[in-house]
Amino acid sequence: MSASAPITQDLVTIPRKLPDGPTNLVGLTRDQLRETLIAAGTPEKQAKMRVGQIWQWIYQKGERDFAKMTNLSKDYRAQLAEQFVIAVPEVVSREVSADGTRKYLVRIAGGHEVEVVYIPETDRGTLCISSQVGCTLTCSFCHTGTQKLVRNLTAGEIVGQVMMARDDLDEWPEPGEGSDARPRLLSNIVLMGMGEPLYNFENVRDAMKIAMDPEGISLSRRRITLSTSGVVPEIARTAEEIGCQLAISFHATTDETRDKLVPINKRWPLKDLLEALKSYPKVSNSERITFEYVMLKGVNDSDDDARRLIKLIKGIPAKINLIPFNEWPGAPYERSDWERIERFADIVYKAGYASPIRTPRGEDIMAACGQLKSATERARKSRAQIEAEAGMTK
Ligand code: SAH
Ligand code: SF4
Repeated sequence: MSASAPITQDLVTIPRKLPDGPTNLVGLTRDQLRETLIAAGTPEKQAKMRVGQIWQWIYQKGERDFAKMTNLSKDYRAQLAEQFVIAVPEVVSREVSADGTRKYLVRIAGGHEVEVVYIPETDRGTLCISSQVGCTLTCSFCHTGTQKLVRNLTAGEIVGQVMMARDDLDEWPEPGEGSDARPRLLSNIVLMGMGEPLYNFENVRDAMKIAMDPEGISLSRRRITLSTSGVVPEIARTAEEIGCQLAISFHATTDETRDKLVPINKRWPLKDLLEALKSYPKVSNSERITFEYVMLKGVNDSDDDARRLIKLIKGIPAKINLIPFNEWPGAPYERSDWERIERFADIVYKAGYASPIRTPRGEDIMAACGQLKSATERARKSRAQIEAEAGMTK
């Protein structure tokens, strides 16, 4: 039995083809799309080329209407339109914060809703996406962990969040314009929204492969970060099969405390976790691992914790993101005092590690995402400013 089986086995898998609807092409891997096209009557010899063409329309041009795919014959376009759809999650609500952060609630099949957050920064625009509805894990400081309902998102629902955001940012290329003609507003993806991505490995992998493919969304694997609570057996697989950047929800420096904060630690304790992390950068050819560390008053924020943290991660290329606890109603913890966080950051910094302190973005709209902006970055720019500076004024 695979290690994650007991937790994921009762998740509902939504069939790609709904009983009363056509197949959605979004989220199909190249191989799956090829097979799907052949099964629908595309001659085998042409299938590979058609996959490339259709992918470019869907992921590079943002086209949703087969009739407008002008490099395909009219008959073929009609045939596709009869059998398939190009569908992304539906936006239920959208809030824009004073600092430019956008929070979306999107609806997926079955009526479930997940959150997506767009965070504009001076040098990038990061989309925080979800991999599951809710989460089967029960980290005691995390609000998502308190939600009962859980299901895995399909690959189409995961990459569809990126497409939805590009729709909203209006950043598909104009007809005739190359896909990289303008700087990207959505330049980075973090899997730090709802859910544990490594308990939905295949769908996350397939979606991120589309995000990284030059004929897909075409983002570098260095611009994609997957955050995990520490599903040890899947970490090596992440390096081998996805190769993106890794963030780890570390949050404690002793097994006793981590057992309470991140209960998956009881199954894969610190020793096993650190072992798995040591080989990650080499196998994935990636840069530093991000250690996420939520600052909880009197729980994990002492000077001793900071010193233990440095000792534990010795030998791992690392950056430590200190996250002031984002309080939620009924939460059993409090955010550490600012002076304490700064003192902790200082110890870590003096040991030679980057230790940015993050503060929640979009606090006025309660944007809930683990990816939180560095408080040390004073300049907060609106999308209009970023566009203006990039020469993109409309
Ligand atoms: N399940 C994955 C990814 C989603 S959570 C994981 O746990 O890594 C993304 C990040 O937000 C994690 O580091 C998580 O520990 C952190 N987080 C969750 N709730 C938080 C809160 N209330 N305040 C601050 N960070 C939080
Ligand atoms: Fe799940 Fe991550 Fe929240 Fe833990 S921190 S409950 S793994 S979403």
